[in-house]
Amino acid sequence: MEHKDNIIEEAGPRLPSLDVPELYQCVHCGLCLNACPTYRALRIESESPRGRIHLVRAAAEGRVELNEGFADHLNLCLMCRACESACPSGVKYGRIAEAARAAIGPPGSKLARTVANLAFTQLLPFPSRLRLAARLLRFYQRSGAARIAGKILPKRLREMSAMLPAVPNRFFVPEVEVFPAIGARRARVGMLGGCVMSVLFSEIDAATLRVLRKNGCEVVLPKRQVCCGALNVHNGETAAAKEMARRNIDAFLAFDLDAIVVNAAGCGAAMKEYGHLLRDDPAYAEKARRFARLVRDASEFLFEIEILPPSNAVDMTVTYQDPCHLAHGQKVRSQPRALLQKIPGIRLVEMNTPDRCCGSAGIYNITHAAMSQALLEEKMVSVAATGAAAVVAPNPGCMLQLRYGAKRFGPPIEVYHLMDLLDRAYGAA
Ligand code: SF4
Ligand code: SF4
Repeated sequence: MEHKDNIIEEAGPRLPSLDVPELYQCVHCGLCLNACPTYRALRIESESPRGRIHLVRAAAEGRVELNEGFADHLNLCLMCRACESACPSGVKYGRIAEAARAAIGPPGSKLARTVANLAFTQLLPFPSRLRLAARLLRFYQRSGAARIAGKILPKRLREMSAMLPAVPNRFFVPEVEVFPAIGARRARVGMLGGCVMSVLFSEIDAATLRVLRKNGCEVVLPKRQVCCGALNVHNGETAAAKEMARRNIDAFLAFDLDAIVVNAAGCGAAMKEYGHLLRDDPAYAEKARRFARLVRDASEFLFEIEILPPSNAVDMTVTYQDPCHLAHGQKVRSQPRALLQKIPGIRLVEMNTPDRCCGSAGIYNITHAAMSQALLEEKMVSVAATGAAAVVAPNPGCMLQLRYGAKRFGPPIEVYHLMDLLDRAYGAA
């Protein structure tokens, strides 16, 4: 694996002053080091949380330049936030890294940065464009072009193509905004359809809607909602991310809601941070904090309201992969496990280090394929050791990565979202 350990001294812009108090909270104890996947793989201080914080602080103080070497260290980080769970001083590393990435921009070559910027600013904020892109991808997959491309494309592009799931026939585009509760109403919730979820995992959105309604929730899917902006923020693009946050705030706060339910861990973590993202926007700062307080992961919310007992058995031994942005970003660990154990027939077997990153990490599996695949192979060894028939991972990125891992490294297991299994337990076909 190619690795650069030097900060190349060349002229470049300095990091603008960082409004991140956590930068000065790190006491350099090193207790986060062994939780960090990149440090565990490389054993190099500059690829550890402590090393990266030190580096960002040096840049903020003008002691190192914002050059290629600086960007390499920040970009090799998975943004998994395992270091936050390990840190006894409560350092919010994610905020430090996001601020630094906002200064250096998206990772990769000039071409990759241009493509990423186009996706972040011209595709993700527009649901209709996203659906058009998904339709084109579906045509590519079904027309035979994918088979031909599989023979002629360079290896890396073939691998990327193999990671994509088959685009479903139907996307999740609700015809109405408000769905009544089934039975007595217990709560009125908003639901994020999501960008990737609504086109590539539309059945999971539909399952989430059914599970919420069966548990007495009136569900509001505001038509004006857009992508949450998580991928933008994690990759250093903040202008479009802020605009997406404002649009979601307006869309959801137009309704009187008890909670805003999210079934993708990365999206939920980003939406819980809207207050921080828009802290300097006088028109939205207070609304963003109010919005963030309402956000719940679907498992967190269903656990809080105490789900009605599902009656259908799902006879299966499963293991559970903690999505990083659920376990480390939102501190939601016990709730999905508790819900799984309420499903008749499910046997949950824990894997070794279930909260270690699978290597998906947004677009990391594209920008840092070697590290991503090394982490995935390690993860699949842990999965195989459980003997489970399936792995449950309630986040689209983790699901794509683990499905690819099952194909490439084995074992040949199924990968499910928690909402998928709950939906079956409530009687879905
Ligand atoms: S976010 Fe993950 S990869 Fe990045 S420094 Fe923290 S533990 Fe390491
Ligand atoms: S981030 Fe936390 S755990 Fe890591 S070195 Fe700093 S204070 Fe210690």
